[in-house]
Amino acid sequence: MSTIIDVRTTYEAFANGADLSNLGEVEIYGWARTNRNSGQIGFIELHDGTAFKSIQVVYSNDTDNYDAVAHITTAAAVKVTGTLVMTPEMKQPFEIHAKTVELLGDVSEDYPLQKKRTSLEFLREIAYLRPRANTFQAVFRVRSVLAMAVHSFFQERGFVYVHTPEITGNDAEGAGSVFTISTEGTPHPYTDFFGTKASLTVSGQLHVEAFALAFKDVYTFGPTFRAEKSNTKRHASEFWMIEPEMAFTDLNGDMECIEACIKYCIRYVLEKCPDEMAFFSTWIEKGRMDQLNAVLNTPFTRMEYTDGIKLLQEAVKNGHKFDYNKIEWGMDLQSEHERYLTEEVVKGPTFLINYPKEIKAFYMRENDDGKTVAACDLLVPGEGEIVGGSQREERYDILKAKMDKLGNTQGLEWYLNLRKYGGCKHAGFGIGFDRLLMYITGIDNIRDTEPYPRTSNALKY
Ligand code: ATP
Repeated sequence: MSTIIDVRTTYEAFANGADLSNLGEVEIYGWARTNRNSGQIGFIELHDGTAFKSIQVVYSNDTDNYDAVAHITTAAAVKVTGTLVMTPEMKQPFEIHAKTVELLGDVSEDYPLQKKRTSLEFLREIAYLRPRANTFQAVFRVRSVLAMAVHSFFQERGFVYVHTPEITGNDAEGAGSVFTISTEGTPHPYTDFFGTKASLTVSGQLHVEAFALAFKDVYTFGPTFRAEKSNTKRHASEFWMIEPEMAFTDLNGDMECIEACIKYCIRYVLEKCPDEMAFFSTWIEKGRMDQLNAVLNTPFTRMEYTDGIKLLQEAVKNGHKFDYNKIEWGMDLQSEHERYLTEEVVKGPTFLINYPKEIKAFYMRENDDGKTVAACDLLVPGEGEIVGGSQREERYDILKAKMDKLGNTQGLEWYLNLRKYGGCKHAGFGIGFDRLLMYITGIDNIRDTEPYPRTSNALKY
């Protein structure tokens, strides 16, 4: 009887000091990353998907079918039996000396993912194969761990996880253009949801606010859809959003929670994915781990929007060239402006707060100056905005007047009612999950953080 092992648990056991030299015959399943041999002895780098690391399989004339094994090619699925041998003098702490190597799935010659370095653009074209590439092994494992980090942060703090609907009748949230729903064979997107107009959600916030007024602290975390035509590296048509909402909390409490959440997520990933993070730090963005460690030890800067505008105007005066160079109070900042503030001025994560009310959503709480709202965007170096948050307008009359002016009250009466039925001060935020992943890994295109990215004109898989 042989013991079935995998790479992850074997490395874990080794790290925990277990004696692995007496396992007897072991059996492992995986794919050959490389196979090289010298006639007498051969080496298969076996990757089994359970860890970023591989395990080296050594075969020799003692191995059954040496010649057949020597012809195993990259990506072939194999079963190996043999013994685990400690190799303290080598780079890897152990290897497998093979008794048998059984070919379970051969690879045809047209396999597009050979061992040589390939570009991320090329890999995007073969989205169904790229999870096998090193970069995407790292990205998608970190993506999974990061999702867990998010849940664990909120669950530890007692937040209730709410599944807000993907199909919604409110397209008036003001967060972006919507995809409307239509039924096959009935081209009437305006009435196709059993006689009503419906669309895919652009944000779960309005729905989750109602739950905050019942559970105090809640969050929703799920897919979100925006009909973004902008073909940028940071916008996808389908992406994941984390949207917490907290009753009895103001903008300051909101920012404290954002900062704690981002830092928790960074710490969690650094701790759980050291191999992947070391890979990003070497191959994707030099020194990424050091930068993240520095972020953990720095309080996030808070800057008034009005001060941000002044700094941008000064920059222009001093000869800095933005593509959009006409900086004035009231404008919506472009990504280049956000990046200037966080990269050149602050050199670290920056909350920009109290934006002009005209450029922000209707539900944000109006400040006493009558001109701004209690909103915050978190800007980070390399990317710009990754989080948008605000204190919500809890005053019925003010909110109603705003919604009436926009003409979006119909269908959202329930949302207004929340202000009449035990309403209270509350605040929340939205973190773009994919953008957070980009930030942590240093990957600079959102298309390389989603398993099957949906962006304008991309629906191949
Ligand atoms: P942006 O100005 O970058 O388009 P936004 O102001 O429309 O973003 P919000 O409505 O505040 O964004 O959404 C909250 C968060 O969701 C953003 O901070 C961002 O991280 C993320 N996000 C928004 N739109 C997209 C998108 N199309 N693709 C990926 N993430 C997005």
